[in-house]
Amino acid sequence: MSDKPSPHRVINIQPLFKAEPKVYPRTIAGFFQRWRWGFVWLTQIIFYGLCWLPWNGRQAVLFDLDARRFYLFDLVLWPQDTIYLAILLVLSALALFLFTAVAGRLWCGYTCPQTVYTEIFLWIEQWIEGDRPARMKLDAAPMTPSKLGKKSLKHTLWIVLSLWTGITFVGYFTPIRDLGHEALMLSMGVSEIFWILFYGAATYGNAGFLREQMCKYICPYARFQFVMFDSDTLIITYDEARGDPRGGRSKKADAREQGLGDCVDCGICVQVCPTGIDIRDGLQVECIGCAACIDACDQVMDKMDYPRGLIRYSTENALQQGLGSKEIVKRAFRPRTLVYSAVFLVLSAATAWSLTHRPPLRVDIVRDRGVMSREAEDGSIENVFHLQLINTTEATRRYEVSVSGIDGIHLGQPAIVSVPGAGAAAATITVRVGAENAETLHGARPIRFTLADVATPELRVEEPAKFWLP
Ligand code: SF4
Ligand code: SF4
Repeated sequence: MSDKPSPHRVINIQPLFKAEPKVYPRTIAGFFQRWRWGFVWLTQIIFYGLCWLPWNGRQAVLFDLDARRFYLFDLVLWPQDTIYLAILLVLSALALFLFTAVAGRLWCGYTCPQTVYTEIFLWIEQWIEGDRPARMKLDAAPMTPSKLGKKSLKHTLWIVLSLWTGITFVGYFTPIRDLGHEALMLSMGVSEIFWILFYGAATYGNAGFLREQMCKYICPYARFQFVMFDSDTLIITYDEARGDPRGGRSKKADAREQGLGDCVDCGICVQVCPTGIDIRDGLQVECIGCAACIDACDQVMDKMDYPRGLIRYSTENALQQGLGSKEIVKRAFRPRTLVYSAVFLVLSAATAWSLTHRPPLRVDIVRDRGVMSREAEDGSIENVFHLQLINTTEATRRYEVSVSGIDGIHLGQPAIVSVPGAGAAAATITVRVGAENAETLHGARPIRFTLADVATPELRVEEPAKFWLP
């Protein structure tokens, strides 16, 4: 045999990811499950219902991108209000830091859309196909008319729900009643159809198929949340000191005599876990903090007549130092969380004050650069100004314009400008300074426009400008 190296290289192909078995979470009832469903109802009633709520003759919450206006109940936001969007993002980030530092992955476990829709889709699946063992058996069985019927019904309901979710989502950008009418008339726009299908497909794919994979591999929040954790953050923990050594036993047996801890090793905490992990292996990045394993284990403890809480909300410090619940609550008020809370409250209060004290009128005044200054027929010096007005309220308002800042300054003719509710108006105004006053002045002089509401004169907005003298 020749010792010459083979001309063909052997390539070992390494898979980029490990195929994982499908997770079949077992149905569970209990205290925390009731809270989870409470949040499912709350978030979905708000999401599906809010877009149908009328307000001042329009939709209460509408992000009208075409008109470049956001309506939030009485509030009308313009592109000039982008700062509020930035503040909202900062507040959301602060709230997330605060809640995560105090109570871990509360957002993931109870209110994240991925969790909520997975819960709803799973409920439909369980309703049609049965609980964990029945679903596993059905998936393993060959295709029969009965299996085909169940699968078709499940996917039909998923698709209907996904499309309704897509329509609701788009209904926050196009008035939902108009959208419904367009859908009935088959006259929907291409972009509306695209976004309904896109959002619907994302819901169907994420909640129906990706499920825990989304939390484990795609969501970035799961990756960086541990930076926000510390030893006093509430996490879901298995009490190893109490539970180990694990092992089966009869209810009547004395576990201590048998050298066993309280964990009967039934595996139910693993079967109910939507991400398929075993919390007894310690805190893992895959744990979304849903607390299903707490409910499951508490039921087992009840059956065994053992105290509840073998799996429970606790903290690293509490487990290591044997701290009680009072001490855990006390430690929630630590410097880090107090700083987050203080910044959050101050920023929220300042934003609320700023929003409620917004002037009803926004004015932008630009001097006509094509006409620097000119001499009017009466010998006075005249400048031309363009006014851009935005009415931040929803009632039509009329404003009387006046000007001050130089002796003898006055408008070319009286001006009253009407601005429609949540609308904009433009006006061109001539301003004059008498010849006797203009003689002694040169260059750009600061002046001030005042716009007083005709119906409520004390409601006025002032805006500076420059009057140009030769
Ligand atoms: S449910 Fe409780 S008793 Fe059963 S395996 Fe899990 S930790 Fe042990
Ligand atoms: S380990 Fe428990 S809390 Fe974490 S995801 Fe699984 S069931 Fe939910």
